[in-house]
Amino acid sequence: MINTNINVALIGNPNTGKTSVFNQLTGLNQQVGNYPGITVEKKIGFCKLPHNIKANILDLPGTYSLNASSIDENVVIELMLNKNDKLYPDVALVVTDVENLKRNLLLFTQIKDLEIPTILVINMADRMEHKGITLNIPYLEEHLKTKIALISSRKGFGITELKELIVTYKTISSEPCLNASVIDTEYFNSLRKAFPNQLLYKLWLVITQDVNFLNLERKEIQGSFTKSHSDLKRLQQKETIKRYQFINEVLKEGLKVDTTVAKDFRSKLDRVLTHKVWGYVIFFVILFVIFQSIFEWSKIPMDFIDSTFASLSTLANDSLPAGALTNLISQGIIPGIGGILIFIPQIAFLFLFISILEESGYMSRVVFLMDKIMRKFGLSGKSVVPLISGTACAIPAIMATRNIENWKERLITILVTPFTTCSARLPVYAIIIALVIPDERVLGILNLQGLTLMLLYLLGFGMAILSAYVLNKIMKIKGKTFFVVEMPNYKLPMFKNVAINVIEKTKAFVYGAGKIILAISIILWFLASYGPGKKFKNAEQIIQSKIENTALPQQELDNKIASYKLENSYIGIMGKTIEPAISPLGYDWKIGIAIISSFAAREVFVGTLATIYSVGGSDNEDTIKNKMAAEINPETGDKIFNFASGISLLLFYAFALQCASTLAITKKETNSWKWPVGQLIFMSGFAYVVALIAYQILK
Ligand code: GDP
Repeated sequence: MINTNINVALIGNPNTGKTSVFNQLTGLNQQVGNYPGITVEKKIGFCKLPHNIKANILDLPGTYSLNASSIDENVVIELMLNKNDKLYPDVALVVTDVENLKRNLLLFTQIKDLEIPTILVINMADRMEHKGITLNIPYLEEHLKTKIALISSRKGFGITELKELIVTYKTISSEPCLNASVIDTEYFNSLRKAFPNQLLYKLWLVITQDVNFLNLERKEIQGSFTKSHSDLKRLQQKETIKRYQFINEVLKEGLKVDTTVAKDFRSKLDRVLTHKVWGYVIFFVILFVIFQSIFEWSKIPMDFIDSTFASLSTLANDSLPAGALTNLISQGIIPGIGGILIFIPQIAFLFLFISILEESGYMSRVVFLMDKIMRKFGLSGKSVVPLISGTACAIPAIMATRNIENWKERLITILVTPFTTCSARLPVYAIIIALVIPDERVLGILNLQGLTLMLLYLLGFGMAILSAYVLNKIMKIKGKTFFVVEMPNYKLPMFKNVAINVIEKTKAFVYGAGKIILAISIILWFLASYGPGKKFKNAEQIIQSKIENTALPQQELDNKIASYKLENSYIGIMGKTIEPAISPLGYDWKIGIAIISSFAAREVFVGTLATIYSVGGSDNEDTIKNKMAAEINPETGDKIFNFASGISLLLFYAFALQCASTLAITKKETNSWKWPVGQLIFMSGFAYVVALIAYQILK
C-alpha cells in the first residue's frame, strides 16, 4: 500500500494539535507501532483524498527543531534526510498553533530548507477571534514560499481545504526559506565547492547531527569540515538567530494581534493550579477522585468479565466431550483470555482520565509542579501519574509512562512502578494480616491491622522512590533532560482525541502484552494439571482407599482429590523441590506451590492454598483462614502461619515481581526482554533477601 499512496509527514512542535490533525485526517485508520530498536511510538494512518488519491499519513514525534536533543527528534531528522526510507515524505505538513506562530515557524523554516514540498498548517484558528489575532494569508504564503491551510482541528473546519491542498503537492514550491550560507559565508561556500551536488542545509545537518544518509563518506566530511564542538554550537546558534530574524520580518506584516481583546483567564488559573500549596492540594484531590472512580467504576465490568468467563469455562466443560483438549480450553485458554480482558476496564478508565487531564492542559501544570521533586530521584514530573496509578494495577501504570520523553526517566519509572502496592496484592495482604497481626488498637484509636496495611503501602512507595534514586545513579544511559518549556492553553478536551487514545491503548495492551499473558497462563495451567508418575494418575483411587469407607460428601471428596492431584502435579513437585530454598523464609512446600502458581497473578495465592488445604464447602475466606491458622509444621509442631513467617510473606509479596502481566507489559514497552528479566531477578531477589532476614530475626 505504501508504494502507490503518497506519503504525507506530519511534523510540528508538541502541543500544536498534531495528533488532532492526524485524527481528523485518518479517523480510526491508524496503526501504532515502534520505530525499530527504539521505543518512540510510530503512528501511520490512512487517508482518502479528493480525486481518488490515497495517502499514508505519518505522525512524527513532536519536536521543537531539527537540532536533535532527544531520540524523538532524531527520528524526524533521520526520516527527513533518508530519501531511501519507504516513508520518505512526498509532502510535509508542518502543524503550528496560531497563538505560538513565531516559535513554531522555526521548525517550519528548517523543514522547508530540506527542499521538499511543505504545507504550513496553521491550527487552532478557532482561537483567533478570542485572542484578537488576524493573519494576512496571501502575504505569508508569498514570503514563506508555501501554501497555507488555516484550520481548526477542534471545530473541524479547514480540513477539506487541507485535503485539497495535499493533492496539489507537486505544484508547491520547494524553495528554501533561508540561504544556508548566511550562517557563515566562507565555511558554507567551501562546503558547497566540495559537494556541489548536495543540498547545503542537508550537509549542515549531517555535520551537526549524528546522521548520514547522503551516501557520503563520513570521513570525507569529518576530515575537512568538522569544527570544534564549540564552533559548531556557535554556528547553530547563529542559524537559530538568522531564522528568527527572518520569521520576525515576515510576521511583522503577516500577523497582527490586538492585545486589548485577549483575556487573562489563563494566568489567573495558572496562579492557583501551580501554587506552592494549593497546587498540590488540588492535584491530590483530583487524583483521589480519579482513583476512587477507577476502583468504583471498574469493579462492575471487572466482576462481569470475571463471572462471564467463569460461566464460559463451565459451559465449555459441560458441553464439550471430556478430555485433555476440553480441559485445555475450559481451564487454560478461557481463564487465560479472561485474565487479559479483566484489565481492560482499569486501562480504559485510567486512560480516559489521563487523556482528559492532558487534553485540558492541566497535566502540564502537574508536571511543572512535580518536576523538581521527582528529578531528585531520577524521575520526571510525569512519573507521578504512573507511580500513583500503580496502586490500582501496574499494567495501565506502565503504559502511562509513554508520555515521558526522556528515555532514562521513562525506563526508571517503568522499572520501579511495580513496587507500588497494586490491588492484586490486597487479597494476599488481607488474609495474612488477619492471620498474624492481632486485631488490637494502639494509642486507643489506630487499628493495628489497618496500620500494617498502611505501612505496606508506604513501603512499596518508598521502595519505588529509593530504587529510582539508585537506578539513576548507576544507569549509564544518556538522555537530555526535557525542561518544561511551555504551558499550553487550557482547553476543553476533544472527544475524538480522548476516544482514540483510550481505544489505542486498550488495543495495544490486548494484542501486545495479552499474548504473553495467555502463554504463561497456559503453561501454568499445564504444570498444575499434569504430573508424572502413578500418584497423579491414580489420585482418585489413592484417596478412596485412604479414607476407606468413611462416607464423605461428594464436594469434600472432590476437594481432597484435587488437592492430592495438585500436590503431585508438576507444580507440586516444583513446590517441593524449592522447599529447601524457601524454608529459611519460614515457608513449606505448600506455600511454595502457591508462590509458583501465583506468578500468573498474585491473587491466585489464596485460591491455590485453598485447593491445597482442600477447604470443604464453598470458597469462603473464613474457612481458608481457619485452615491456614490450623496448619502445623509436622517437624516442629509450630504453626506454619506465625508472626515471623507471616511478616516474611508480607514482605515477600510487597517486593517480589509476582506478576506475569507486568513482565509482559515491560517487555512490550521497552521492546526487549533485558529489562523485564532484570526487573524480575532484582525484585524477586531483593524480596527473598528481605523476607529471609525478617524471618530469621523474628522466629
Ligand atoms: P500534539 O501534542 O501536537 O499532538 O497536540 P494534540 O493534538 O494533543 O493537541 C494539544 C491540545 O490542543 C489538546 O488539548 C487539543 O484538544 C487542543 N487542540 C487541538 N486542535 C485544536 C484546535 O483546532 N483548536 C483548539 N482550540 N484546540 C485544539
